[in-house]
Amino acid sequence: MMAARSCDQPMNRREGDELVLEIRKFGDPILRKQSFPLKRITKEMLTLADNMLETMYAAEGVGLAAPQVGIPVRLIVVDVGDGPMVLFNPRIVRSAGEAAAREGCLSLPGVTGEVVRADRVTVEALGRNGQGVRRVEGEGLLARALQHEIDHLDGILFTDKATNIVEEQADE
Ligand code: ZN
Repeated sequence: MMAARSCDQPMNRREGDELVLEIRKFGDPILRKQSFPLKRITKEMLTLADNMLETMYAAEGVGLAAPQVGIPVRLIVVDVGDGPMVLFNPRIVRSAGEAAAREGCLSLPGVTGEVVRADRVTVEALGRNGQGVRRVEGEGLLARALQHEIDHLDGILFTDKATNIVEEQADE
């Protein structure tokens, strides 16, 4: 986990170094590619994760996947209100229950649709130091965000699975 922004502890980077990246939109071929697994967590990947969080917060999203900023690697960031979560090589190892809810995507602005997803998931990812396994359990919105973002790593968009898709007027 990243240190809290208000934390007084020294960090690896200076506050305010993060960049807001361009979010790729529907129609960009990178959104349909399989993303590559990471062998280890490099400094570049940690910087990318920080920039992705910054980009996600700026866009008021709750999750973002690396291919959405043009980098086809298996990295997602999520924050459903419990603080930032950065996951490298995430994969769902267990899922249970079922829930339908309306969701949207930063790559498809103004579009929402109802998606049935597992209500609880267990995700395994690369350990924070690049070794071992990190396990995350989520339910409700967190489970939904994890599934949505991991789908992005396989080139899957929520509209592939959604029903009752609604598109807002672009000028709103
Ligand atoms: Zn999305």
